Amino acid sequence: MNRPELQPTGDLNVPIHTLDKRLLVTIGSVAVLIVVNGALDVWNTRRVYDTMALVSHSNEVITSLEQVLSTMKDAETGQRGFLITGESHYLEPFDAAVGLLEGEIEQLQRLTADNPSQRAHIPVLRRLVAEKMSELRRTIDLRKKEGFQAAQVVVLTDEGKQTMDALRDENLAMRAEERRLLSERTSGSEHSRAIALATTLVSAVVGLVLVGAFVRLFRRDIGIRAQSARILHEQKEIFRTTLASIGDGVITTDPDGRVWFLNGVAESLTGWTSKEAEGIPLENVFHIVNEQTRRPVDNPALRALREGVVVGLANHTVLVAKDGKERPIDDSAAPIRDAQGNLTGVVLVFRDVTQRRETERSLHDADRRKDEFLAVLSHELRNPLAPLRNALEILHRADDDQRAVTKVRGIMERQVQQMVRLIDDLLDISRITHNVLELRRDAIEVASIVTGAMESSGPLLAERGQQVTLNLPSTPIYVDGDKSRLTQALCNLLGNSAKYSEPGGHVTVTVLQCDRTVELRVTDTGIGIPAEMLDRVFEMFERGERSPKQRVDGLGIGLTLVRRIVELHGGSVEARSEGPGRGSEFVLRLPVVAPPSLEAKSPRGAAAQSVKRRILVADDNPDSATSLAMMLRIMGNEVRSVTDGENALREAATFRPDIVLLDIGMPRVDGYATARRVRESPWGRDVTLIAVTGWGQDDYKRRSQEAGFDHHLVKPVDIPTLVGIVGQSSPVSRTA
Ligand code: ADP
Repeated sequence: MNRPELQPTGDLNVPIHTLDKRLLVTIGSVAVLIVVNGALDVWNTRRVYDTMALVSHSNEVITSLEQVLSTMKDAETGQRGFLITGESHYLEPFDAAVGLLEGEIEQLQRLTADNPSQRAHIPVLRRLVAEKMSELRRTIDLRKKEGFQAAQVVVLTDEGKQTMDALRDENLAMRAEERRLLSERTSGSEHSRAIALATTLVSAVVGLVLVGAFVRLFRRDIGIRAQSARILHEQKEIFRTTLASIGDGVITTDPDGRVWFLNGVAESLTGWTSKEAEGIPLENVFHIVNEQTRRPVDNPALRALREGVVVGLANHTVLVAKDGKERPIDDSAAPIRDAQGNLTGVVLVFRDVTQRRETERSLHDADRRKDEFLAVLSHELRNPLAPLRNALEILHRADDDQRAVTKVRGIMERQVQQMVRLIDDLLDISRITHNVLELRRDAIEVASIVTGAMESSGPLLAERGQQVTLNLPSTPIYVDGDKSRLTQALCNLLGNSAKYSEPGGHVTVTVLQCDRTVELRVTDTGIGIPAEMLDRVFEMFERGERSPKQRVDGLGIGLTLVRRIVELHGGSVEARSEGPGRGSEFVLRLPVVAPPSLEAKSPRGAAAQSVKRRILVADDNPDSATSLAMMLRIMGNEVRSVTDGENALREAATFRPDIVLLDIGMPRVDGYATARRVRESPWGRDVTLIAVTGWGQDDYKRRSQEAGFDHHLVKPVDIPTLVGIVGQSSPVSRTA
């Protein structure tokens, strides 16, 4: 199968294709050299052969000339012998010469046919031979017919000798010419041989150099190829290892969409091993369907292959593993291209988004709960307002009907208390969310927590006709904790028991020590809790299903507060129920500590006010300012009220109050700035400054302190606390 191609990116000095060219050039040069060398060899051989042929031709010509002269000499020798002896057998050489000469001259003519200068000698030679032979024949005839004397006369004329000399000269001239040619041709032949030898040597040397270069380049080429192969191998390994160590699932395919590689994550998500998936069509290994429709989804990797672009996955896609297990996934696919830009495969990256989906779901749930909470909150805040408004109307019309006023006051107190509790819970939740819930810890007796909680929740339980049983230990058990917070936690549990039980139900509070832990159990006979809700009831804004008949108040934060308070004390809380209609039990567990050593405790409660104070109240809400001023006046103080910071400063300069109560959020000069200016003035150093604000968070308290306030009270002001502060404040000396 074709695997996605990887290009080596190592630092190779000479690229492979350049090397190939060099090798090709070298091989080409060797080939050309062989051809040229062969051609030169042929040419040289032919030249040597030709010059040697010419040399042998010249030798032939010379031999032929010598032969003609020798034959002539034989003819003359035969003639001389006959002339002297008269014996006819002396004529045999002559007769033989007659038979040979014509052929020998013919051959000479043929041999010299290509040489014009030699050819020119042939007729002369032929004539001289003929003349000489004729002279010899005449003398032989004279000897035969007339005897020796007659022949001698002819011989003595010296004509024959002259002809023979001329013939010899001609022959010598021709031989001299032929010898010159021979010498020329011999040296030409040697030159050709020398050239042939030199050419062969040069070719051999060049050939050797080229073969050497070829071998060098070839070896280098092999070395570089080996290095490239090694780098390629290393890169493939790096590629494989990189893919293997990616935290997401990775699958790569060839250009036909067949699986090439799966990393470990992909193996565990698909259920296929890389080995068994290799070569298998991707859609079989990476099987995806739409979460809702269950229809197969267009595979992004195959689309990336088809279109050559990066493709993301459609939402709500589920990967079906080999074993049928389904997981929501998120992925994208990208084409793999080689250095030339050709598509060599596709890489698919995907991840299991189960966790994310769950987070999204829980965020969605939290968001839903928050929306529900806001709706509930506005409802819960509105609830006490209706009776309050009615109560005001009654007060307005009641005139002197003391019974009506008393009854209405009870209603108002309860409703205000309800609102204060709601707002306190909200502030506590905010503190918990920001991790700033502070505990004032002390060794406290557990029974006192129960008593404190019963003091607060008792009226509600009684109002709903709930019977309460307390099972308290005979010996005191102590925990290290913040009494008011732990009381608040137990109050929440008791309040829930009251809320979620029918009138006439039964609530039991049991305290028992198990080893180093004390358990506070609140058991009721109420509506119970479904099993699946048992853990969730402690989550913020979580409110159980309510039937339209069950008109139960609550923001869904009470148990969150309980759990957080208990956990801050190193304890835990658990909800138990056998199901709807079968009651509930909440178990608080806290670590037990040793009893504290006896020590004098300061008396609690507000100091009674004995001296009349001069008090200035500043609040931009005139009703708040007026009602607070009225209350302080009823308590026997001299009080003035204003509605902003500037007037407060002006009024204080003449009124010289002992106590100034300042709202923080006032127009123009706010409470902080006013406080600072009071402190800067000579009369304001010893004044008791009290911030009265809707902001109860610690950060606001710190800022109040920095501005010079002595106390920070949160609206609605807790009257006993205010009475205590006023009572404890010292009147300012006005003698200065
Ligand atoms: P709230 O009471 O304001 O709704 P909580 O946080 O106090 O908020 O309680 C969360 C939920 O737990 C309640 O809405 C209710 O469904 C369930 N729950 C709490 N206490 C009890 C109880 N004693 N009996 C039955 N259900 C309870």
